Amino acid sequence: MTNQNVVLIPEEQQAAMKMAASKKKLNVINGGAKISSWVDSMRASSPPRISISPSLTEEEKSWALQHPSALSMFDKIVEASKGKKIVMFLDYDGTLSPIRFLKEEDQKAKMTTQKVVLIRKEQHAAMKMAASKKKLNVINGGAKISSWVDSMRASSPPRISISPSLTEEEKSWALQHPSALSMFDKIVEASKGKKIVMFLDYDGTLSPIVKNPERAFMSDAMRSTVKSLAQCFPTAIVSGRCRDKVYNFVQLAELYYAGSHGMDIKGPEKGSKYIKGDAKGILFQPAAKFLPMIDEVYKTLVYETKSTRGAMVEHNKFCLSVHYRCVDEKNWDLVAQQVKSVLKEYPKLKLTQGRKVLEIRPTIKWDKGKALEFLLKALGYANRRDVFSVYIGDDRTDEDAFKILKARGQGFGILVSKCPKDTSASYSLQEPTEVMTFLQKLVDWKLQTLRGQAML
Ligand SMILES: [Mg+2]
Repeated sequence: MTNQNVVLIPEEQQAAMKMAASKKKLNVINGGAKISSWVDSMRASSPPRISISPSLTEEEKSWALQHPSALSMFDKIVEASKGKKIVMFLDYDGTLSPIRFLKEEDQKAKMTTQKVVLIRKEQHAAMKMAASKKKLNVINGGAKISSWVDSMRASSPPRISISPSLTEEEKSWALQHPSALSMFDKIVEASKGKKIVMFLDYDGTLSPIVKNPERAFMSDAMRSTVKSLAQCFPTAIVSGRCRDKVYNFVQLAELYYAGSHGMDIKGPEKGSKYIKGDAKGILFQPAAKFLPMIDEVYKTLVYETKSTRGAMVEHNKFCLSVHYRCVDEKNWDLVAQQVKSVLKEYPKLKLTQGRKVLEIRPTIKWDKGKALEFLLKALGYANRRDVFSVYIGDDRTDEDAFKILKARGQGFGILVSKCPKDTSASYSLQEPTEVMTFLQKLVDWKLQTLRGQAML
């Protein structure tokens, strides 16, 4: 762009602004007839950096031309200030702070501690009411649900934001399982003075669900967050996959790994501050004797399902997964039949269901919940009251761990889900990116707490 062009554009724009400023007058004189052609001409002569959305009304377009964005006109602004001293004057509300946030903070500031406690009590009551919703639905035929939800909404603290576009069922679920991000302060408050232990599922929690399970990679950002997390708290990955496979995805030696739904547990190889007592060099495989049988069933299942397009059998060492994510829905029944026909020969194996996956595993009483208890024991935390476990997972198989935590009353589960699901988890997160934000917040909070203690 030449210097001549630079001068020309502001002049043209100035003319356009003058024209826009006289728009109201023109409206009176010409009855609005020529307005659209005027705006067209104004738009044509406007410098390209003033972008005007086509969805704006004529009035809004005219205003946008008269008051272009200071960002898009930045060069012109600094040019005008050339050789002059800049003095800045800034309004506060709505300028340096968002209005909505201000109201919330203002409201919070006015609250006494007693009121905050009262609100938490009300929220607890609202959650209890919500929990009994299903029962009420049966008793009252759903007639009172909307008033219940209204009451629940009214007694909810302001920071649980519920989108007005949600259905009543979704709203009720969101109240029962609020976002772990919006409830972060409450969560860390509950863990005060306790040792936090983190349990993380892998697929759908640390990595997005993908069509090909072999390509369920976690992002480098997530890996880095989990690494920082493991420096702050003992951290375990609890997955349905075989331990080697999940380790290859995560690649962090400082973590505990419980593969094959907890049937293959190994302590950190190196780099963990949390290798204590029995946890040192632990290798726990309660279903070791089933290995030959699992191998045999794997081969049979591969043979039986090879005619079903999209079906995939995954060998997870102590258990098998038959994925039907890529199978046409009209053939799901066929997959079920094939798996069933193989399993009837093996009464010592049982079938459980995951997300678009059929899982086959030994009938021993062992699941992700038992793995959680085993790991707590290995860490020397079994009978201590000052331990606070957090388990994050997205699958039905994670419910065993959620239930254990609920029963223990020390810690809680967080379900990763975008839609309401029957769960024993206390909180929710929508997707792995939210999980990462939550984990990072925990790390930041821990580091801040440590810095605070160091200064005392
Ligand atoms: Mg999962």
